[in-house]
Amino acid sequence: MTRTPSGGAILCRTRAARQHCSFCYHVSVALCDARLEPGKTCDARLCERHRVAAGRDRDYCLDHAFTEPDQLELAFRGEA
Ligand SMILES: [Zn+2]
Ligand SMILES: [Zn+2]
Repeated sequence: MTRTPSGGAILCRTRAARQHCSFCYHVSVALCDARLEPGKTCDARLCERHRVAAGRDRDYCLDHAFTEPDQLELAFRGEA
């Protein structure tokens, strides 16, 4: 267990049983949908801050938001 000098508010909110974001300790709300290979997606867990929405049912992690520019572009144009 780690305690922060200012009160440890971060760990209080996150139970071990809860899945937290792959990038921080917030609760994850989505998984990265980037396709790494056929039938396999990244599945990085993403909180509201770290998910990059790209269309209705598509989210990317920070790594893949920029490696799949075609998908994002479609989303921004509303064609995804
Ligand atoms: Zn996060
Ligand atoms: Zn990813």
